[in-house]
Amino acid sequence: MAQTKDGTLWVAIIGAGPAGYYTAEALTKGDQDVRVDIIDRLPTPFGLIRAGVAPDHQSIKNVSRRYEATNQRDDVRFVGNLSLGRDVTLKELQEMYDVVVLATGAAKDRPLGIDGENLPGVIGSGPFVGWYNSHPDYADLNPDLRIASVSVIGNGNVAVDVARILAKTANEMGQSDLAAHAADVIHVSSIKDIYILGRRGPLEAAFTPKELGELNKLENCVTLVDGNQLPDPSIDETLAGATKKNMIALRAMATNSPDDKPVRLHIKFYRRPMAIIGEDCVCGIRLEETVVEDGKCIGTGKSEVLPTGLVVPCIGYRTSPIPDIPYNERRGIYQNEDGLISDGLYCVGWCRRGPTGTIGTNKPDGKVIAERILNEVSPASKKGRHGLDAIVQERGLHIVTFQDWKKIEAAEIDAAEGDAPRAKFVDLDEMVSIAENK
Ligand code: NAP
Repeated sequence: MAQTKDGTLWVAIIGAGPAGYYTAEALTKGDQDVRVDIIDRLPTPFGLIRAGVAPDHQSIKNVSRRYEATNQRDDVRFVGNLSLGRDVTLKELQEMYDVVVLATGAAKDRPLGIDGENLPGVIGSGPFVGWYNSHPDYADLNPDLRIASVSVIGNGNVAVDVARILAKTANEMGQSDLAAHAADVIHVSSIKDIYILGRRGPLEAAFTPKELGELNKLENCVTLVDGNQLPDPSIDETLAGATKKNMIALRAMATNSPDDKPVRLHIKFYRRPMAIIGEDCVCGIRLEETVVEDGKCIGTGKSEVLPTGLVVPCIGYRTSPIPDIPYNERRGIYQNEDGLISDGLYCVGWCRRGPTGTIGTNKPDGKVIAERILNEVSPASKKGRHGLDAIVQERGLHIVTFQDWKKIEAAEIDAAEGDAPRAKFVDLDEMVSIAENK
């Protein structure tokens, strides 16, 4: 149990996503005087909730209401449109705050490490998901979807999200906040075949039953599984949990016919990407057949080329390194010991433990880091947010507060058409100007 200490403990959290908000919530709910500034380079809060969770999964996005409640408190402040490195340095923050917590997520795609992965037409899940979710960094991606087939690499929930968003019709996306620039391209695309390619088998797949099940309920697209790739049904009674439910869904998909609907989504297991093929852009992907032994993926030496016009690797993420912060190259996270990087510097969420788990996994993670901080750091009469405000003034920076964000949000809701919950802005200047409008 944390001891209450005298004085204000000033904490700066970098990154306004779930890990940042859960940490702020846990830091401020006790008796100690803790003031938290949640800093984000974007003028919008909520990180992956806004730009990662699929636009047709609005119920998951609703968790942001809990973060709003955290932001209603006087001791927690959102400071948007302030970039670490560009507007303020880590050293400056460490001088002003007792604690700096990095909650910067994992925004870089893990590389495939095969020939051809830099060809035009290979777009990692980070940019691709950001594009259809209106992330300002990727709004201009403009992928060419005048193609017949797409290969989505990986057997996780991100692969399932990408395939589903490409397969759903405008009607199915009517209640979503899919970016208008993405809807304009996806809903007139000529895609007829979507492949989800797993290097291991159905028993090793990382996707979850609810997400997999959605693929068997698409209006215009039939999901196909080769029954020969599924294990003998006698194994089913030994299965449990998500694997058992996945197997039920996959067996149902194996009875579908390719002629059922105009677009086909093929879930292919035991295929390892070997090279992406093309001269000026992607035209195919070479896949090696694999077998799984003791959970490991082993190549058989047999390969095939799958013609494809777009490859979207969805194989996990890495944290973006920050100068002077030790980095674990192998794991793609900040070098840390249970969240501690160095005195007064902590990390939480994906940048601490890697890109795994659901949004909710960040709650216990934030609690553990908050408890550590409250136990380990004593207030040292620092300037905290007053120091930051002075820097903002001196440098003429345009920060966006939570009240400012609510103006942006109201404008997005106003701009929504039909049943869409909002039409997200992608232009940073436009958002800042709405925020500054009295
Ligand atoms: P993930 O669940 O770790 O899946 C990554 C997939 O990529 C695995 O199937 C992995 O196969 C495969 N892979 C890795 N390296 C590969 C390579 N070199 N070649 C081929 N395949 C490779 O990661 P994710 O899909 O990015 O999801 C990240 C986290 O967010 C997960 O915890 C996920 O559940 C969560 N998420 C949840 C939702 C939701 O709840 N709706 C939506 C999106 C994401 P191996 O298993 O063989 O390594």
